[in-house]
Amino acid sequence: MDFNLPEELQMLKQTVRRFVEKELIPLEREYRPEGEEMPERLLKPLQEKAKAIGLWMLDVPQEYGGAGLDLLPRCIIAEELFRSVAVPFRNNEIFGPEVRPVLFHCNEEQKKKFLFPVLKGEIKFCFAQTEPDAGSDPASMRTRAIRNGDTYTLNGTKRFITGAGVADYGQVMAVTDPEKRARGGITCFILDMKSPGVILERQWPTMMGEAPWQIVFDNVKVPAENIIGKEGQGFSLAQKWISEGRIRGHGARCLGIAERALELMMDYSQDRVTFGRPLAERQAVQFMVADSAMELRACRLMVYECAWRQDQGEDVRDLSYMVKIMCTEMVSRVVDRSIQVHGGVGLTKDLPLEWWYRQVRSVRITEGATEVLRWRLGQNLLRARKPQ
Ligand SMILES: Cc1cc2nc3c(=O)[nH]c(=O)nc-3n(C[C@H](O)[C@H](O)[C@H](O)COP(=O)(O)OP(=O)(O)OC[C@H]3O[C@@H](n4cnc5c(N)ncnc54)[C@H](O)[C@@H]3O)c2cc1C
Repeated sequence: MDFNLPEELQMLKQTVRRFVEKELIPLEREYRPEGEEMPERLLKPLQEKAKAIGLWMLDVPQEYGGAGLDLLPRCIIAEELFRSVAVPFRNNEIFGPEVRPVLFHCNEEQKKKFLFPVLKGEIKFCFAQTEPDAGSDPASMRTRAIRNGDTYTLNGTKRFITGAGVADYGQVMAVTDPEKRARGGITCFILDMKSPGVILERQWPTMMGEAPWQIVFDNVKVPAENIIGKEGQGFSLAQKWISEGRIRGHGARCLGIAERALELMMDYSQDRVTFGRPLAERQAVQFMVADSAMELRACRLMVYECAWRQDQGEDVRDLSYMVKIMCTEMVSRVVDRSIQVHGGVGLTKDLPLEWWYRQVRSVRITEGATEVLRWRLGQNLLRARKPQ
């Protein structure tokens, strides 16, 4: 067993780290994303530089012109990237357009119409699953799609939809068979956001700065040819994508944030003198450093193992629950400790800590709240031990 990263992954890590140190960290004084989109004037030059060093369309399979990287290298990239706060927390396009993996399940006709324009950055998608009465339990969603000939009619309300205000199309989950629901009764539709009956009802401004949308579908017509996969396959497609999000989007991102928060904590504690001695000489502070380093190290091993196992084709559902729970809780503690060690300075906007503090509060709720994942994990472990 070898715990060292293979040489090519070490080189990739260094390349991304150099990019972050040179291009993003200096940008932090000027830019701290409080909304969903990075301004074009900043994004375009960064994208050009990223392309020039080969950091482009990393998630996209090679057959569509991307780098087709496995999950482990993509986790390493996310870990490095999120050491900077000059990166939008959710939809970030520095290394290429945001392509939701569900789109790779498009048929050939749909690929021409939707996937390829997304890859060229010509159109944008949002993902609409959550509803006012169905968040943690998406299988209880009420948005209904009823077929009439070659067209479906959609009615319902979606809540907290990131990027809906700028999206050309939505990947909308709707019930096509109320009897089956999660077991083949929920379908994923590609919906033109300019269709009659799509109402952007309101935004929900959050403590993170972003303001996801509430959307109403009032008798919206969608052609049957806009179903991704087969009718009833939507739930399983979305779950697959969300599972990957737990490992990279949540796990790896939390590693990067925690690592930099810890570095800031250590540097400040060595410089700052109180009662005649540097903070770093106080046991209370040393314990905060030690606890943060231990927890970060354990979480990194979990993320790398989980990503590696997924790359080997293993079922990592339970491991991905563990990763999301552990990493999101770990980063909340590390950022909090770092603020504590910085005192008043930690609360100011001169440092990235207050921004992270607000952002990381969200990750214990979005895409699977901690309690829900713990509950599911416990159920799965017990079932595996003694099948019912
Ligand atoms: C900024 C932001 C962006 C988002 N973007 C999107 C998006 O683009 N698309 C989309 O579809 N959704 C999106 N969401 C929705 C997000 O995924 C949901 O908020 C999340 O799934 C939780 O659902 P809920 O808010 O309805 O909480 P609820 O389901 O009402 O749960 C509330 C709390 O109850 C507890 N709880 C729930 N069930 C259980 C249980 N079984 N056991 C124990 N405790 C439980 C948990 O602590 C949970 O936090 C976004 C949300 C936010 C805040």
